[in-house]
Amino acid sequence: MKNVRHYIEKIRQGESYFTFERKLNFIAYMLSAIHFVVCVIFALIPLIPLSLINGCLCVFYITIMRNLIKQHKFAAVFYISLLEVLVISSFETLCLGLDSGFILYSISMISAIFYFTFVIENFKKKDIIPLAFSLFCVAIYCISYLLMQIMEPVYILENASWTHILHIFNTLMTFAVLIFFSFLFIWEIQASQSKLASQNEQLHEMAHKDPLTHLMNRRNMNQILRQRMEQLKSTGKRFSLILGDIDDFKKVNDTYGHDAGDYVLVTVSEIISNSVREGDAVCRWGGEEILILVHEPLTSAANAAERIRKNIAEHPFNYEGQDLKVTMTFGVCESIPGYRVEDLVQQADEHLYTGKKNGKNIVVFQMSNNTDTTN
Ligand code: GH3
Ligand code: MG
Ligand code: MG
Repeated sequence: MKNVRHYIEKIRQGESYFTFERKLNFIAYMLSAIHFVVCVIFALIPLIPLSLINGCLCVFYITIMRNLIKQHKFAAVFYISLLEVLVISSFETLCLGLDSGFILYSISMISAIFYFTFVIENFKKKDIIPLAFSLFCVAIYCISYLLMQIMEPVYILENASWTHILHIFNTLMTFAVLIFFSFLFIWEIQASQSKLASQNEQLHEMAHKDPLTHLMNRRNMNQILRQRMEQLKSTGKRFSLILGDIDDFKKVNDTYGHDAGDYVLVTVSEIISNSVREGDAVCRWGGEEILILVHEPLTSAANAAERIRKNIAEHPFNYEGQDLKVTMTFGVCESIPGYRVEDLVQQADEHLYTGKKNGKNIVVFQMSNNTDTTN
């Protein structure tokens, strides 16, 4: 039971084990089994010609049909199965009458039609085809019904119990086929919904995050900064920007290679993300520049920048057995009402530039008219 649930869960998630090919193979075995049971019942009645026809169809499904499935001729499999079920069920109805229940298979085909036209990719006009095929099933049902009103069945069974047995079996199989395809349909929809959700997540990630560091990208940060500027205007709640730049990063690339540079960038990003408070925003602003939005006034932001600077300077960077010395310089500024986002970042950049000129590995920020540094 646990195993069955496990597989059902796999179908729901659209996992690859339950490829369309495997599902079709299962359907081929299912149809083959139905024909086998009918073949045995006819052999017992005995109605040898009908038994032989069902025996041949039983073999047909597990040989020719499975071969077509193997060749991925899915549309052909669908057309042939549909035609076979409709032709044989109406033929057997003409042979044994409406009471035998064979006519019911034409109703069960409607759920299969909707399922197949939904999942087979090269079906065009997916809205018209299932309706057209369904109307075809209705027509077959009505024609068989009307014919049986004006003619006698070819075979009149002496023992009425066989008619009851056939009727019960065919009714149960009709329900089984209806329920089976309806469930497959629901699972197929759930699988495509979850696939869509994960693709949306990926797209969202690509649109908002930097692929190397997984930090927020510049576009996303700009949006947040604009919103925060609006908030500043309406509530007066101040914030600060910290712009950091890795010192002598070019040397890391030139000496240890580009991959070592990437490792440093990723590690620095992790250290910064772990050093800021929840709610602060960290973004990869440029090549090795990181911009941090802190919801605090200048002094607290400068302290945060100093904490980050120390965490980076003290971190043991080691790439493929080689110790690397990594430091970072920071420029900090506070939000000014009426300023544009670009002007604020420009201010942080100017402080950063001052830090680079003054020996790097420092935090530079502006208090009134003085430029202060910490390290
Ligand atoms: P400074 O201390 O003045 O900042 O010197 P620097 O060498 O760090 O500065 P510069 O801006 O001259 O060099 C930045 C280098 O960062 C140049 C570029 O090749 C490298 N870089 C930019 N993006 C990436 C990246 O994604 N991966 C790697 N490995 N390097 C990058
Ligand atoms: Mg640099
Ligand atoms: Mg730079």
